[in-house]
Amino acid sequence: MKHFTIALVPGDGIGPEVIAEGVKVLKTIEELDSELSFSFTEFPWGCEYYLNQGKMMDDDGINQLRHFDAIYLGAVGYPGVPDHISLRDLLLRIRKSFDQYVNLRPVLLLHPSFTPLKDKAEKDIDMLVIRENSEGEYAGTGDWLYKGKPEEVVLQTGVFSRKGTERIIRYAYEEARRLNKTLTSISKGNALNYSMVFWDEVFEEVGKEYPDVTTYSYLVDAASLYFVSDPERFEVVVTSNLFGDIVTDIGAGITGGLGLATGANINPEKDYPSMFEPVHGSAPDIAGKGVANPIAAIWSVSQMLDFFGEETWGKVVLDTIKGLTVETENLTPDLGGKATTNEVGDRFAEKLKEKW
Ligand code: ATP
Ligand code: MG
Repeated sequence: MKHFTIALVPGDGIGPEVIAEGVKVLKTIEELDSELSFSFTEFPWGCEYYLNQGKMMDDDGINQLRHFDAIYLGAVGYPGVPDHISLRDLLLRIRKSFDQYVNLRPVLLLHPSFTPLKDKAEKDIDMLVIRENSEGEYAGTGDWLYKGKPEEVVLQTGVFSRKGTERIIRYAYEEARRLNKTLTSISKGNALNYSMVFWDEVFEEVGKEYPDVTTYSYLVDAASLYFVSDPERFEVVVTSNLFGDIVTDIGAGITGGLGLATGANINPEKDYPSMFEPVHGSAPDIAGKGVANPIAAIWSVSQMLDFFGEETWGKVVLDTIKGLTVETENLTPDLGGKATTNEVGDRFAEKLKEKW
């Protein structure tokens, strides 16, 4: 019997609505597979907690999470709480404290109707973007000099350590090798003459250990164009924190939008828990209406199962998503359907049972 402990942080807005459906999926799996069990511990953190308690999470919150196998997060954000506080004090704090330096974002077209790229509808958009998640352009270092004076200067420094750059690039080579796919690095060495020149060098150096992996290297501007004009050329992609943030949103845009995009924040060494979350935010405009698309959150469950080493289940969940989204009656309004969040989760559980 394998047992995994999961910390639930449903958060704000549609977070709790979609996480409930993901938990439903995990409980269904537990029912179907007598060798597998999960336990759930819920934490009430988020913006509502902030408005009542003056903080996004408990002071010792990181210690409370430390011994879980995974964290399953919904969304944080609330009108009236500045994004930089809600992100910094919860999401980024967890990512940093647990050294979740790999951000894994699959970009996969589930159904031809989901892409706005009409002539691409029959083609194959299927890539895995691996984004550096701990430093780079988001290191948060810089300076603000001569504030308010005519000579005012603001510096925002990107930090690319040898350790940080090598480990993300090595992780990507390993993934490309394991999946037997090509690896594309996205950078900007022609304009960022320190950081991205270094990135390109490390990409090449580490690549010497992986002669079996076919590689490409694109400038981020060209890559952005190809994401739209020819996304099939990408298989495994590795890129920096900022560029990864941007290109994965393009990736979401060409495959059906935020209701389908998932992201895993991984600490590969498993020294600390990894965190799984739909990419979307709290979406206050649709919160409480029961129409949020839970597929992104369910996809996160598939990523979590892969991470637990339960790849068979991870694949079953992803295949079930593919099967489910073929029929419009199973879709929420963001994808042109009429189903509610709850109905999608229920149908998903039914299909899972049929499949097993
Ligand atoms: P936050 O401040 O928490 O980031 P937000 O207002 O930026 O929230 P997002 O959740 O990031 O909202 O998404 C932007 C819009 O996309 C939402 O307002 C919503 O209309 C739509 N959207 C996002 N996620 C979903 C979903 N799961 N299902 C349906 N629509 C969604
Ligand atoms: Mg947002």
